[in-house]
Amino acid sequence: KTSTAPVEYLFDSDVRRLLHPHLPASITDRVIMVEGKGCRLVDSNGRSYLDATGGLWLAQIGHGREEMAEVAAAQMRKLEYFTCFWDFSNDQAIQLAERLAALAPPQIEQVFFTSGGSEGNDAAIKTARFFHYVKGEPKRTWILSRRTAYHGLAYGGGTATGYDDLAEGQGPHLPHVTHLTPPHPYRSSLFVGQDPTDFLVNELEDRIREIGPDNIAAMIGEPIMGVGGMVVPPADYWPRVQQVLRRHGILLIADEVVTAFGRTGSWFASPDVGMEPDIIVTAKGLTSGYIPLGAVLVSDRIGNAVRGFGDGYPVGYTYSGHPVACAIALKNLEIIEHDGLLAAARRTGDFMYQLAAPLASELDIVGEVRHAGMGLAFELVTDSLTRQALPQPNGSIADVIREETGVIVRVSSPTNLVLSPPLVMTQEQAATAVTAVASVLRRARSDGGL
Ligand code: PLP
Repeated sequence: KTSTAPVEYLFDSDVRRLLHPHLPASITDRVIMVEGKGCRLVDSNGRSYLDATGGLWLAQIGHGREEMAEVAAAQMRKLEYFTCFWDFSNDQAIQLAERLAALAPPQIEQVFFTSGGSEGNDAAIKTARFFHYVKGEPKRTWILSRRTAYHGLAYGGGTATGYDDLAEGQGPHLPHVTHLTPPHPYRSSLFVGQDPTDFLVNELEDRIREIGPDNIAAMIGEPIMGVGGMVVPPADYWPRVQQVLRRHGILLIADEVVTAFGRTGSWFASPDVGMEPDIIVTAKGLTSGYIPLGAVLVSDRIGNAVRGFGDGYPVGYTYSGHPVACAIALKNLEIIEHDGLLAAARRTGDFMYQLAAPLASELDIVGEVRHAGMGLAFELVTDSLTRQALPQPNGSIADVIREETGVIVRVSSPTNLVLSPPLVMTQEQAATAVTAVASVLRRARSDGGL
């Protein structure tokens, strides 16, 4: 036993005390992690797992790196915290802002720090609306989003999130948010026989006309939908969407909480899909999960406008620019660069995809395999003709894979089995992960039975 507390106590106490996101109360099993090293995790029973989800899409540099602990301890000894409100600042936040401005696409120049992705999307929506307000267009409040988008679960970004079940029973969400069709070519029935991009651009133009272009602040979108199932849009989607937005003075917010910092093989994915966003939201891979931190990156046009009005930028959190978090992010980015993890993500991601792709022709329940860098999704369907979502067995296929093989994968969106391993994963480990998935999928029936 590797945990310090008795295992029975941990299990009982977890069930009694901890509210877990998206866990039905009927499930009283727990996997209580107590240690991590590289791509491996150990639970409180001493069982070892291969982490093929990188936690939640974020453990770019792998678990348990000594140098991260050293950086955190050194920064805590020097200055554990002071605020970045008003005229206060700290050297770590300043250096990280410089580093991010250097890594980000050229139009991005200024940085606001948050503690995660949900907070970042809230801040981005506020920033977009406030930008128009200070520019004398206070009616520009609408936000365009997409169904099956994931922008976190706070009320702002959470309203932009495109899953109805995640909003159920929580009263009114943010007003003035509307959802468009996602650019998911495999789901061809969405496009009623038209070219997907033609359909989506027409829908966008129609929606803008209905709401009134002068009432719209911004469109928010993930360059590649992560939770939606690594949905890589058609190559002309973002360039054409952006053209329409520009014509109407609507800002573009890229939610790069999943895609940035190497997940897709680049520092940022938006340039790779033809987006030139005014605002980029990041979190997750910024620290590889060693500490909570997010960053909202904006162009000078936006930053100068929102800081130049009245008493200044009206968004701020106690932990904005936390010096320990920023020191850890700086070290994390240094490791990603020094260890060549962007190239590794492309290389290992391609390798994983080559192993996984044949399952689409071998198994009727695998409709499509998609990937970008170290993000891989199996679209699970009852059969490749109707493309209906495969019913999940009690729990989910991911639970079965974990129990039987010790490989951690996830079901998302809810028809996709997704892998998003640490970027340091070896080819041997990647092969183990894909083989584990394949072994269970080969047994799965179209009624969801195993
Ligand atoms: N945006 C995207 C694209 C995400 O995938 C997530 C989380 O998975 C979020 C935002 C929310 O980030 P957080 O959970 O850090 O609030």
